[in-house]
Amino acid sequence: MPTPSHQVIIFLGPPGAGKGTQAERLATEQGLLKISTGDILRDHVDRGTPLGVQAGPLMKLGKLVPDQILIGVIRDRLASMDSIRVIFDGFPRTLPQARELDVLLEELGSPINAVPLLEVPDEQLIARIVERGKTSGRNDDTQAVARERQQVYREQTQPLIDYYSARGQVRHVNGVGSMDEVYGRILEALK
Ligand code: AMP
Repeated sequence: MPTPSHQVIIFLGPPGAGKGTQAERLATEQGLLKISTGDILRDHVDRGTPLGVQAGPLMKLGKLVPDQILIGVIRDRLASMDSIRVIFDGFPRTLPQARELDVLLEELGSPINAVPLLEVPDEQLIARIVERGKTSGRNDDTQAVARERQQVYREQTQPLIDYYSARGQVRHVNGVGSMDEVYGRILEALK
């Protein structure tokens, strides 16, 4: 089968569900570009750019960075691509971001192909984040901030599940198990 020239996958799921790891592997194996807004923002914070200076304090508290900033970041990223073959990890996170992404993809003629949703019980998520915090060096991988991020997810990001479900795009994936097990389920769900 020829590789489709356009491919857009959006990974949804709560913080700590394993989106980044799974999205990374899928991107590598399928020749897609993973776009992680968290990684992009952390890079700005590290470099001390104006965007980083604005985003850093919000990230440290587990709050979201304003929609317009993220939309600008994504617009710039996609504008430089010849063919849109991407996996979004951590974007969109709010309904305004999702609507703006639709507008952008419409302009580019690249509709969303699928929205895998990684499901992991709440009680496991905090433990995973605290464990990750031992090596990630992220100042938001602490128990207190993880709780705040979970709350922000419930209020602002969970509505996206309905938004994409209404179009039949959501693929529910059990995110409990080994990395390989979960990856296998993702491939199955994307068929
Ligand atoms: P993540 O690496 O996806 O867990 O993101 C880490 C932090 O970056 C989040 O807690 C937010 O503060 C910020 N962030 C990442 N992506 C977004 C987004 N799409 N909208 C708003 N804030 C974001």
